[in-house]
Amino acid sequence: MGPKTAQRLALHILKRPESEVEDLAQALIEAKKQIGLCSVCFHLSSEPVCEICRNPNRDNSTICVVADSRDLIALEKTREYKGKYHVLGGVISPIDGIGPEQLTLQALVRRVSKDKPKEVILAISQSIEGETTTLYIGQLIKPFTKVTRIAFGLPVGGDLEYADEVTLARALEGRRELD
Ligand code: ZN
Repeated sequence: MGPKTAQRLALHILKRPESEVEDLAQALIEAKKQIGLCSVCFHLSSEPVCEICRNPNRDNSTICVVADSRDLIALEKTREYKGKYHVLGGVISPIDGIGPEQLTLQALVRRVSKDKPKEVILAISQSIEGETTTLYIGQLIKPFTKVTRIAFGLPVGGDLEYADEVTLARALEGRRELD
């Protein structure tokens, strides 16, 4: 939530009766308690293992790696992708103090070496940090499986989240092997 949204929310809350505000606060506390991360893919989930990981119709032979859950949701909207995901929890960014150890990379390597997927698709935005992260993960998991990256019809630094569904579906379809 940005400062503008927070301010609007605060102004809205000030105008509401106290009982209603208490209900809202309670609902927020409940949501915070219930939402955790999937123990397999680290997507937001109210269950220990998320719906996508539990779905027997999803293809186990492909894992698509994204920076965060918003990107996963954007890819799901295309309805093109039928495999599994892995959510990194960010991208490598030394300036922000985020190194590989702050991301879910160890879990990814464990998963890839154990489940032996046929392909790992890297769907990380093309910012400098995103590029660094893509290359880093490529090095890590190439010994285990084929690694591809999605093709971008997006401007450099374009966030996956803001791409429209058609562009995203095309980027996924046009993926190529990481060299
Ligand atoms: Zn999951």
